[in-house]
Amino acid sequence: MNNIPLGHRGRQAKIIATLGPSSSAPDVIADLYEEGADVFRLNFSHGSHEDHARSIDAIRELEKKVGRPITILMDLQGPKLRVGKFKNDGAVLKTGASFRVDLKDEIGDETRASLLHPEIFAALKPGSSLLIDDGHLRLKVRSCGPDFAECEVIVGGAISNRKGVNVPDVTLPIPAVTEKDRADLAFGLSQGVDWVALSFVQRPEDVAEVRHLVGGRAGVLSKLEKPSALDHLDAIVALSDSVMVARGDLGVEMPLERVPVLQKRIIRSCRKHGKPVVVATQMLDSMVKSPVPTRAEASDVATAVYDGADAVMLSAESASGMFPVRAVATMHRIIQSVESDEHYAALMQAGHQETEDSSPAAITAAARQIAHTLTAAAIVTFTSSGSTTLRAAQERPEVPILCITPNLSAGRRLGLVWGVHSIVGDFIHSVDDIGDVAVKAALQCGIGQEGKSLVITAGMPFGKVGSTNMVRVVWIGGETGAG
Ligand code: PEP
Repeated sequence: MNNIPLGHRGRQAKIIATLGPSSSAPDVIADLYEEGADVFRLNFSHGSHEDHARSIDAIRELEKKVGRPITILMDLQGPKLRVGKFKNDGAVLKTGASFRVDLKDEIGDETRASLLHPEIFAALKPGSSLLIDDGHLRLKVRSCGPDFAECEVIVGGAISNRKGVNVPDVTLPIPAVTEKDRADLAFGLSQGVDWVALSFVQRPEDVAEVRHLVGGRAGVLSKLEKPSALDHLDAIVALSDSVMVARGDLGVEMPLERVPVLQKRIIRSCRKHGKPVVVATQMLDSMVKSPVPTRAEASDVATAVYDGADAVMLSAESASGMFPVRAVATMHRIIQSVESDEHYAALMQAGHQETEDSSPAAITAAARQIAHTLTAAAIVTFTSSGSTTLRAAQERPEVPILCITPNLSAGRRLGLVWGVHSIVGDFIHSVDDIGDVAVKAALQCGIGQEGKSLVITAGMPFGKVGSTNMVRVVWIGGETGAG
């Protein structure tokens, strides 16, 4: 375990590690945390509730040992569409041949397969594409009706039982949350997860529906992987607490060459709205099998960090790969390397949108400027909802953001956010106390030393959401400055 359990990690961008067969054992979870995992993702496309409950218990035990909040993200499977089963478990589709999909619940072969999703047939038109098995097979609809589609095989290959289907060209009239998702969500919320990720978001209404179901008990993160979601990008970002560039399915639904462009567009939109943004999938993919990534993968992680992503995510690398702990350690080193680039701070500021016309935004912008001028050790935020701290992160200051909160769930949720290092402290009643509390916390977390300043922001009265209205400077080992 870390020498300084509360210690700051020495970087601003965060790491999300997906748990799975390679990494669910409590000792591996502890190693992942020690090497730099800030958020643990539980993928509800796989594993039973019992499996996830064991992981959650292990994370919460670890949290008690390290003495600071650890973040858990549950990822709902969403309306994943699949073909049915095949004779001998599979078939080979020939390029140029005809292939039919329909609503008949019968075993398929090289001429047809069942696709038990009436909503797809309601939305298909001649010319629509059907992509199977992550886009490895491509079909074009020639004619269709309410219960069938006759297709031409544009790119053939082997198909097997229950392979996934993507329908990129149309907005499907399917609910954002399936029956399975509802059961998983109820389970996850009862276990106290901090974030709920929603897959295959198509419309702002999908996010609204999940927000309603979650009812504030967790943050809602929208995974952007459908072209239709990008038509409503700003509305979806505004309604979400966080967003993920889910490049796996995005790269199936859209031409691959669009993914880097969309990644930047989504990050820009999130930074404008002050919403944390995650870049996900295949970041260090070769580390599933190899102890070192390719140079291109190292560059990919670096690009996301240079773009100002709040977090970068490991999927198969940490869930089922051979080197989960090394993958986290590698990501940690790449982030540190980018953040020590002399141009990094200027790039973060260049990507910062104009400060909005409100007193909390102006005060937070001033705190960043003061921290810069004084070469402060940190910005310290006192928050109960997390909003003061989120604002500070939106400014992308050059120094860590030490968040002191009486609210464990706010501290846990902020683990996903760029630059934020949270600890749980007692509720502060008097503004006279904040200087001493901030200095003590900073030293405890290994942030700053005697003679360095801390720039404090808070909202008063304490506990009133969104009321950031105070900035104060204190000196470690010195006198408290003016408020
Ligand atoms: C993705 O498609 O990139 C993604 C993160 O989703 P999942 O891993 O759940 O398919």
